[in-house]
Amino acid sequence: MSRAFNFCAGPASLPTAVLERAQQELLDWNAIGVSVMEISHRSAPFIEVAETAEHNLRRLLNISQDYAVLFMQGGATAQFSFIPLNLQRGFGRAAYIDSGHWSSKAIEVARQFTDVEVIASTQGQGYSRAPYQEELDLSSKFDYVHYTPNETIGGVEFDYIPDTQGMPLVADFSSSILSSALDVSKFDLIYAGAQKNIGPSGLCLVIVKRALLESTTASGHLPEVFNYRAVDQASSMLNTPPTFAWYLSGLVFEWLLAQGGVTAMEAINAAKAKKLYSYIDQSEFYRNPIEVHHRSKMNIPFTLPDKALETAFLDGANKRNLLNLKGHRSVGGMRASLYNAVPEEAVDALVEYMQQFKQQHI
Ligand SMILES: *Cc1c(COP(=O)(O)O)cnc(C)c1O
Repeated sequence: MSRAFNFCAGPASLPTAVLERAQQELLDWNAIGVSVMEISHRSAPFIEVAETAEHNLRRLLNISQDYAVLFMQGGATAQFSFIPLNLQRGFGRAAYIDSGHWSSKAIEVARQFTDVEVIASTQGQGYSRAPYQEELDLSSKFDYVHYTPNETIGGVEFDYIPDTQGMPLVADFSSSILSSALDVSKFDLIYAGAQKNIGPSGLCLVIVKRALLESTTASGHLPEVFNYRAVDQASSMLNTPPTFAWYLSGLVFEWLLAQGGVTAMEAINAAKAKKLYSYIDQSEFYRNPIEVHHRSKMNIPFTLPDKALETAFLDGANKRNLLNLKGHRSVGGMRASLYNAVPEEAVDALVEYMQQFKQQHI
């Protein structure tokens, strides 16, 4: 059996070692004679899985007890609604930074629940970079400031954490969480759908400052399962959570710790991204349109000199087991996602293929 190199943006590659372990444990987990999927989420063995996963995530990101860690459902998209519903502090408006597809989506949804002020946008620049700190208009008071540190589709990554002058900072880390060291204490709420850099789909992590939850005036109409305070009080088990996704994410956290944690991943991820960008830039064939200091290390879009070559490029890639390189339908071209589980050899194989393809088509 050979595993292909998978550049999918999401649901994305998982570490082979993690899948092998899950496979070994599948039929008879923990010597109980059934799989982890087939037991109560309230049973002692599953509670241990859940608590160990949270404990290891806290170790990986150095998350203090000032923060709740919630394991929620509905993906990052559900958070686009839960955030404005939960984080009301009496100002009646929220600030959003627009840096591409996902921040625009978050804005569109938030508008259904609160007044939204877009305090900076690079739409006029074709989202070829993130807004700079100097461009953020923070002259009013807001319930919170929201941004998307890594735009998965455009391949744009902030190279700084916005200074919000004391207002709560909320960040959609769906495609970059655990890819590099992160100072969680700079944030009030971090959320991330699991299926990019954590585990299988069906789970969304929310890391939120408990003091912020205490200070909000969340609407009484908020359904309990959408209410951060209620979810925290129930240890994310108000109802049945996606137990298999939680278990598998826990295995990924263990794998990350064994790799040396997020600082080790940061070095590997930087090397992978550098290899691909360096080749693209010197190729005079492939092109990446993003300003160099805002280029994503996780999602690298690139174009070929002629759109007519795209099908041939993808066919040739598939033949070499280099999978899921087609760019998002909204931007076209190619995209290579280089999450934690994508090894450096995958990038080597991709660059080698890109070189050969170029030779055949110049
Ligand atoms: C994938 C993604 C989303 C959407 O995630 P779902 O889990 O499908 O709702 C939102 N934001 C970012 C940055 C993403 O990469």
